[in-house]
Amino acid sequence: MKIAIYPGSFDPVTYGHLDIIERAAKLFDRLIVLVSINPVKPSTFSTEERVDFLRKSTSVIENIEIDSSSGLLIDYFKKKNADVIVKGLRAMSDFEYEFQMALINKDMYQKAETVFLSANSASMFLSSSAMKQIAMFGGDISAFVPDCIAKDIIKRLKIN
Ligand code: ADP
Repeated sequence: MKIAIYPGSFDPVTYGHLDIIERAAKLFDRLIVLVSINPVKPSTFSTEERVDFLRKSTSVIENIEIDSSSGLLIDYFKKKNADVIVKGLRAMSDFEYEFQMALINKDMYQKAETVFLSANSASMFLSSSAMKQIAMFGGDISAFVPDCIAKDIIKRLKIN
């Protein structure tokens, strides 16, 4: 049984993340999507909201678990006896940081292999932060997030 962990801030989840989630769920027996609580990177949405948005958006996927953690990814990886860390790669922007993290994680624990899935062309330039700016000004975010969470995102972010 191959267990993969897909970590990120998911602040909030977008179709870009969901594309990676759907593909990774097909590649591995079990996929844990991990909302990372990072004390030096403040988030717009609470951990509970980010977990809830992910649960609503992935309810049809059977071999998935949504969790959150405030500790080191590698400690969580060991605790779950996982096999792979999954990351998504967009255009050039993610490469250097993600490459560095993959090497650091492997240095800390040799068994920790990182697998990169390339973003699909439709969400290559999609980020949670760009989507949030559009929502803040009352723009249409239906191309970026599923309907089941779009209203809640707009309600929380729209100015006035
Ligand atoms: P961000 O806050 O930059 O949107 P996250 O920390 O939530 O990113 O991202 C978690 C993982 O998902 C990272 O591996 C990131 O590269 C990947 N990711 C984010 N957005 C996309 C996208 N549009 N397409 C593919 N992968 C993505």
